[in-house]
This record gives sequence, C-alpha cells and structure tokens, in this order.
Amino acid sequence: MTEEVKRVFAFGKDANGNNVTEGNTNMKPVLGGKGANLAEMANIGLPVPPGFTISCQTCMEYANAGNVWPEGVLDTIHQYREDLEQRVGKKIGDPKDPLLVSVRSGAPMSMPGMMDTVLNLGLNDESINGLIAQTQNPRFGWDSYRRFIQMFSNVVMGLDGDLFENAINVKKAQRGVKDDTDLTAQDLQELVEEFKRIFSENVDPDQYPDLAREGVAVFPQDPMIQLKLAIEAVFGSWDNPRAVLYRKKNKIDDNMGTAVNVQTMVFGNMGDTSATGVAFTRNPANGDKEFYGDYLVNAQGEDVVSGIRNTSPIAELKHTPGLEEAGKELEEVFVILENHFHDMMDIEFTIMQGKLYMLQTRVGKRTAQAALHIAIDMEKEGLIDKKTAVQRVEPEQLDQLLHPQFDKNATYDVLCKGLNASPGAAVGEVVFSSEAAVKAAEEGRKTVLVRWETTPDDLAGMIAAEGILTSHGGKTSHAAVIARGMGAPCVCGADALHIDADKKEVIVAGTDVVLHEGDMISLDGSTGDVVLGAVDLVLPELTGDLDTILSWADDIRELGVRANADNPEDAQLARDFGAEGIGLCRTEHMFLGDRKQIIQKFILNDDEEIRADCVAQLGELQKGDFLGMFKAMDGLPVIVRLLDPPLHEFLESPRALDVEIAHMEEQGAPAEEIAAKRHLMEQVDSWSEANPMLGLRGCRLSIVFPQLPKMQVRAIAGAAAELKKQGLNPQPEIMIPLVAFESEIETLRATAEEVVAEVAKEEGVELNIKIGTMIELPRAAVIADKIAAHADFFSFGTNDLTQTTLGFSRDDAEAKFLPAYLEQHLLKRNPFATVDDGVAELVKMGCEKGKAANPALVCGVCGEHGGDPESIMKFAKIGPDYVSCSPYRVPLARLAAAQAALAK
Ligand code: PEP
Ligand code: MG
Repeated sequence: MTEEVKRVFAFGKDANGNNVTEGNTNMKPVLGGKGANLAEMANIGLPVPPGFTISCQTCMEYANAGNVWPEGVLDTIHQYREDLEQRVGKKIGDPKDPLLVSVRSGAPMSMPGMMDTVLNLGLNDESINGLIAQTQNPRFGWDSYRRFIQMFSNVVMGLDGDLFENAINVKKAQRGVKDDTDLTAQDLQELVEEFKRIFSENVDPDQYPDLAREGVAVFPQDPMIQLKLAIEAVFGSWDNPRAVLYRKKNKIDDNMGTAVNVQTMVFGNMGDTSATGVAFTRNPANGDKEFYGDYLVNAQGEDVVSGIRNTSPIAELKHTPGLEEAGKELEEVFVILENHFHDMMDIEFTIMQGKLYMLQTRVGKRTAQAALHIAIDMEKEGLIDKKTAVQRVEPEQLDQLLHPQFDKNATYDVLCKGLNASPGAAVGEVVFSSEAAVKAAEEGRKTVLVRWETTPDDLAGMIAAEGILTSHGGKTSHAAVIARGMGAPCVCGADALHIDADKKEVIVAGTDVVLHEGDMISLDGSTGDVVLGAVDLVLPELTGDLDTILSWADDIRELGVRANADNPEDAQLARDFGAEGIGLCRTEHMFLGDRKQIIQKFILNDDEEIRADCVAQLGELQKGDFLGMFKAMDGLPVIVRLLDPPLHEFLESPRALDVEIAHMEEQGAPAEEIAAKRHLMEQVDSWSEANPMLGLRGCRLSIVFPQLPKMQVRAIAGAAAELKKQGLNPQPEIMIPLVAFESEIETLRATAEEVVAEVAKEEGVELNIKIGTMIELPRAAVIADKIAAHADFFSFGTNDLTQTTLGFSRDDAEAKFLPAYLEQHLLKRNPFATVDDGVAELVKMGCEKGKAANPALVCGVCGEHGGDPESIMKFAKIGPDYVSCSPYRVPLARLAAAQAALAK
C-alpha cells in the first residue's frame, strides 16, 4: 500500500468563524511562501479570505509525469473546493450568488511576478447575473467578467494580451473616452462578447477537445474546467522561460515547484469604499521606520503594479473618506505582523466595501543599506537579537555598499553580457592597450580597458582604467583576479566581443555595433552587463551601520578572515576592512613594470654572473616591497608566497614577436635587427610548454632555480629584521607553492631556514619565520599528513586545486564548456566561484590529516572561494581556520563567516 500523501491544505475560517487552517509559516517547502504565510496570518487572527493550497510537490509530480495528474488529486481538490463553498456559503458558478476564486502561484522562494495568476474564476454567462444581482452593480459585474476572460485567455491559453487590449482601445475610440473607467456596463458587456469571439478565433479546438463545440473552441462555461485548466497553467508557469531564468540568476532549485493557492475573491473595485494596495512595514530603500507603499481606490491588484493609474501613498489611506477604519486597521496589522514575524514584511491587501483583507505577506526585499539599518533598529527595539541581526544581511549585498553602481533610475539597453567577475560599475572610453589607458588617465580621461585577456603586462592600464572588459577567460582569469584584488569593476569572458586590437575596433556579434577606440561604454561587474554609452553611476553612502553589524559578526564567527594583497595600499585597505592578516601575497605581482626587464634578463641569460646580478637587483627591490607590506600589517601575519607562475608569463608572446618580425621584414628593417628579434623569439619559444599550468611553475621553479627562492627569503627576512630593529612587530610567513611531494617541501624548507638563520645572524636579531605550503594538488591533500610534518601552515589554493581535481582549465573552462554544463544541470554552480563538493572533500581531508600529524598546523583557504559566501559556509564545517580573499570582499567574508558559525 502506498502511503497517503497530503497534498491539499485549507486556510481561513469555517462558516462558524472557527479557524480551520492546516498549515503554518514553517511549511514553505510544501505550501510555498504565499500559502504558508496566508496560513500563518489566518492562525494569528488576521483577516484572510478563506481558501486552500495545493502543494509544491504536486506541481513537480504533475510535471515529472509529463503533465499528468497524480491519481486521486483532482478528487481531493474538489473535496476542498466543496468544503470552501460550505465555509463561505456560496457555490462556484451559482447563477444567484456565485463564489469567485483566485488561482495564484506561490513558490517556496519568492519569485515576484515570474509565474501566473488567474482572478475572478467561476464567472460564466449565468453566474455573471448572480454577481450583478448580489452587488447591484452591473458595471462591476461585466468588468469582472471581461477581466476574467482576458486573464484566462492570456495566462491559461497563452493568447497574446494585445488582442484584448486592442479590442478595449477600439471600444474606447468608438465611445470617445480615454480611460477604461469611462466604459459603461453596456460597453463592458459588449466587450465580453467580443472577448469570447477572440477566444474562439484564436484557440485551437484540437488542442482543447474539452472546449470544442462543433469544431470551434468556446470559452469554458463549466467552472470545474476553468479551475482545472487554471491550476494546470499555474503549475506550467513554474517552467516558463522567465521563471527558469529567474531561478538560474537567483540560484533557486529547479525541483522545488510552485504551490497553487485557490482563494475566495475579494474586490477592491467595488466603488469608493474599496481599494487595493501593496505596502512594506518599513522603508525597503533606506530602512527608515515608516509605513511604505501605495494604494488605489476602486481598483484590482494588477492596477497598482501595472502603473496605469497614479497611486496614493499608504500614509494617506486612513485619511481617505470611507477607508478610515480599514486604514487604521491596516496600520495595526503592520505592527502585528512585525511583532509576529520579527522582520520587515511586504504586504498585499484589499479593502472591499470598507473591510480589510490580507492577501499576502512575506519578508520584504530590501537594499543593503536598508537591511543593515532595519537589523540594527530591530535589535534595539528588542524584536531580534544580535545573532539574528547578523543573519538578516546577505553578504553578497554588501558589495552594493563598497562599489559604485549603475543608478537604479537609469534606463539602458544591454549590448552584450560577460561574466560578472568583479563588482561595481564603470564608465569610460574604450581603449585597447594598457599604454592608452595610462595616457588617457594622465590627460584626465576615463577609460574601460578592452582586451582579449589581460596579462601581467596590463597592470598599469588596469589600474589607470575605470573598468576592465575581456572577451576571454573566466572568473579566476588574470583580469578577474587582479580586478577583484584592486576593487576594480570587471566583466570577463564576454565572447560576443570580437576584438581587433590592431585595427582598434570591436565587432559585437549578434548586433550591428562596431566599437572604436574612444567610444563611451559602461559595464556593470556585478551583473556582467555591457552597455553602449554612459550610464549614470551612484556611489552609495557608507553608514556606520555596516561597522556595527560587522562588529557583531566578529563576535560570532569562528573562521578568521585574511586578505590576498601584494602591495602596501591593498594591505592597508584590507586592514581597514577588518582583515586579520595577509593570507596570500603573490610575489609575481611585484615583478612588473621596470622590474620586468630584470626578470626577463634573468630568464633569457644562461650566464651565471648576469643571473646573479639580476637576482641581487630583484632582492633589493623585493625587500622594499616587503617593508611596506609588513608595516601595513604590523603585528599580523603576512604570508608571502615564493614565485609561482611559469616564467614565460614574464616574456613577450612568441606569436606577438612573430608578427613583429613579419612587420619588420615588410618595412625592410636592417637584417641584424631582424636576426636579433628572431633570436629572441627562439629563446622565448624555448620556454613555452604544451601545458604550462602543469609545467615549470610553483615550487618546481625553486628546485630548478634555487637562487630565486634564496633571494626572496633573504628579502623577507631582511625586511623583517630591519623593522624589528625599528621596534615594530613584523610577522612574515613563507609559503611554498604547488607542492606535490613531501620531499619538495622538505628540501625547500631547509634552504629557507638556512637563509633566515644567515640573515638573523648578520642582522643580530631573532627571527622566527613560519614556513608552510599551498595545497593545490590532489596528491598534496591525500598525503597531507606527510607534508604537514614539514609545514607550519597549509593554505589551500582552491583555484588550482579545482583545476587539478576536476581537470578543468581555469583559464578556458568558463568560456568553453561550463555554460553548457550549467544549462544542462550537469553542475549546479561554477566550481571556480563556489567550491565543488569533491574539492571541498580534499580540503577536509587535507585539514584532518594535516592537523592529526601536526596539531599546531594552521589551515587557510586563499583561492577565490575564500570570498564566496556559499563556499565559506562549506569551509566553516570542514577544518580551515581562516579564509583569505581580496580586500574588497573582507567585510562580506566576515559576515558570511558569522552566518556560517550560526548555521552550524
Ligand atoms: C590558487 O591556486 O587557489 C591560488 C590562490 O593561487 P593562484 O590563484 O595564484 O594560482
Ligand atoms: Mg595557485
């Protein structure tokens, strides 16, 4: 025997005024948000029109069976329908006094406006007479009927809404009137006939045999058919394209389904003592404690949102003749709702002939600024405690407070989209080279640097430009990582852009737009939108509320938060944002600009003397870098990673050199110059590898060129010694990247210790510099116990660990095939943005084995996942002691870490 599953749930009162509600607010997964809160409002005695809710699971069962009803469910629905008729003392379709119902969607997560609703269901050519007789209002009756046919045809049958709007416009023109409200009962009755005709002309009778009469589809007169089709349409709307897109964007599970609420209709359009409106219990834009919202007298719900009539502010409701009592009651309801839900609520209500009804309530959406303000106010008011306040702000929302944004009131067309790689918005002239960006900045012009992909060479331009746009690369591409580190807006991987940097133009695929250098564009790194022209930007105000919430978060969180930074300015910014140290200083970022020539000379010369000279020069410069970093982070740990990238990244690309040689030949350049270039190209070529990401990089560089780590360790130790002598408290730590074998760390650690000891002796200071490793290879995680014997700390480089565990190239996957994986639901998340469970398992194993072998081992995560709230949730449960992220994400990580601790 199969277990009986309850699929339908009543809400509201029975005929004797007793509450017969079967659900409550905790049942959102079953009843959807709307159904669960209608139940809850009924339970706390608020005026809710009675009805019933069909569960979200029924929607999924129906969909998964290929739009076939699970056995017995239609019977159950009809039992609940009969029960509802009994409770309100009216029958659907009754020619004397018909019950009319609304059929509304309502998913577990709010998806405003994405799915379907049908109002006034139950009207037909007979029950319309009953409605008119009961209300003594023929105009209202015919208006309700024409609205029902219009909505049913559009929502349930999928007919174009314009067919009906055009008919209304024709009628208004015939009658010489401007507004819908000027149409008479007679006009509306004629429109009903016209609408039925449009219905018959446009609905395919073969597709709806139930509606076919003599080969023509007829508007359904049987309310049971109306009800069944409407429920099926609402189920179906779960999978309409806009709902699917909304879910994708908001990371909502496609398998939740929507509930369907069948509810007694109440009318806000029954004259001047009727009204309808939407409201928030507080201001959702800035968080002020004031009732906020709009209403319309003599109107139905969609009139308020559609903006066809001018609404009045909610504060005026209680002063509106005929609506005073309901207005006062509504304000009491606001207070009851906040006291009950302990949150800012968003409400839909209707007043029917002076009586207030609540149609919906849910936790109100709000801006970051409002979220902070409301949480703090509610804590002060005793409605919530600090732990709850900290959970009331979405970490991702904090980005809104830290970067310029497109003005919400601005209108614009999106030219193309890329990956939302680094938040914030930028407006500037298109430039194609780092030099052009720098030159423009010197001249006071703002630019957006447009590149196929950026390289370390572009750093100056990236700093000079307002924003960065690439046609290639993913969220951990060079452009993305650097932009986030700088807090610069960046859209990457916008593959519609076909960039010809030589011609200085970009063809935008799918449009007829060709961008040229100097053209103004805007980009929004929070959404990935690219716009032709200048969009207005706003800098949201930073309020003290952010500090307050973050200080509460700090008291709660267990995970530490450090920053990835490689210059003193970023280190200082990170510290200001609350970072407790530097989790990753990528030293290769210190080898750019003028210094690049030195490292190039090192790479391209075999002569040991020349190389030694290069190393000596670099060592001096590095020491200066570290002095600044350690000073900015005085007293806090600064993990300096030894040189990591393949060396050819510091060289020109052989392809560019090849092109240059061709140009030189074409222009008849001197033979010896061409020969020198060719020699350079051959040298450069000799450094290239088929799989550079699996090549001569990470600790392998230190094994092959031991002079490099020695120089770096000497610079680190030297800077620390100098600052110590000045009375400061530098806390550098040395990190060896991309270790796979314990022998690698063993030997490199010994070298580093030797150098530190030498410097300590030379300088006459005591130096205790911790030495640890990055865990970026599966082997390292699996044998973490052996590696931990030689390490003071582990830092999980989850960018590379994702790449090496999944075998997905971090540079190409997001552009080439990840979109297909996401679209086809093979993956739920981009694993370079949110840590994959398999990779997380390796992190867990690494922490457990490492700490078991070396209890003093400190573990952190310094890949991009360290700044992702969802990943932070996972890390909090599996062993790392801290996360490290770009400075601009530090506040967000502090908050997410607190929420993770509370979730535990
Ligand atoms: C990593 O691989 O996660 C990491 C932090 O190092 P990088 O991004 O510099 O390779
Ligand atoms: Mg790495």
